[in-house]
Amino acid sequence: MSKVLGIDIGGTSIKAGMFSTEGELQAVTKIPTGEITSEAAFAVVTEGLKKLLADNGVSPDDVVAVGLDVPGPVDDDGKVGMLANIELDPKGLQKAIKRVFKNANLAFINDANAAALGELWQGTAKDASSFVLVALGTGVGGGVVTDGKIVSGAFGAGGEIGHITVNRDEQLSCGCGRQGCLEQYSSATGVVRLYKVECANRGTEPVKLDGPTDTLSVFNACRAGDEAAQAAIQKMADYLGYALAQISVIMDPQMYLLGGGVSGGFDLFAESLRNSFRKYCLAPSISTRILPASLGNDAAMYGSAYQAMQGK
Ligand SMILES: [Zn+2]
Repeated sequence: MSKVLGIDIGGTSIKAGMFSTEGELQAVTKIPTGEITSEAAFAVVTEGLKKLLADNGVSPDDVVAVGLDVPGPVDDDGKVGMLANIELDPKGLQKAIKRVFKNANLAFINDANAAALGELWQGTAKDASSFVLVALGTGVGGGVVTDGKIVSGAFGAGGEIGHITVNRDEQLSCGCGRQGCLEQYSSATGVVRLYKVECANRGTEPVKLDGPTDTLSVFNACRAGDEAAQAAIQKMADYLGYALAQISVIMDPQMYLLGGGVSGGFDLFAESLRNSFRKYCLAPSISTRILPASLGNDAAMYGSAYQAMQGK
């Protein structure tokens, strides 16, 4: 009864899934965490994982692979780079997990890449050999798969599609220090900012927003006929379609999958996005599919499990 664990490490909690080796998600647990940098913190994680298994009648010895995804760079050898948004000692956690799961192969993977692999294993991209997962969250991340493999790049910057320059005239700076990145328009933060700009241009009041990433309120305003929201979403889709057209010139993938919170408004912007892509792309790529990802917030959990299984 071999099992695989996929562990999605976030800032305040981790989400862990128990999978069959065929890719069926059989149980999930959420373990609240603070800084994962001490033996006591590692123990909270391993105890949570043991409980998940025990509740399902599985022994730690039955676990053949444990994958962990992190919000930061992981090189081809599985070494975790600088993590800007979470406090984690990857080596310490790895050792603690290895002590409990003696028969398991362990692997770290970048979260956007994990989400892409998840979609490849059990999601919309099942059976695809080349696609790009575009993660539209607080920022814009990407997972690039070609010939069934993740492209992480010579310097670990492969797939950083949020930083494709789409507007050379932008004055505002992106988090990366450059100006005019896709992320400045098509992330949750970007959509909300564009909406406020459109409201200011029209002299209208924005709807009540629950913080700088509240795209849900912008989408609802759009559905209710708010013209500024419609214009903002149109703009976001235009920039995104432009960026995808540039990606197609290089890798010509079979499909683009959209994930992350902003993809919750897919029905609102799908048509504009597809039109924009067709407007900017080179003729042979014109029928590239643009679809919503299907595993939602579980995608990275699937993908990290899959990644760890590859090392077995
Ligand atoms: Zn940038």
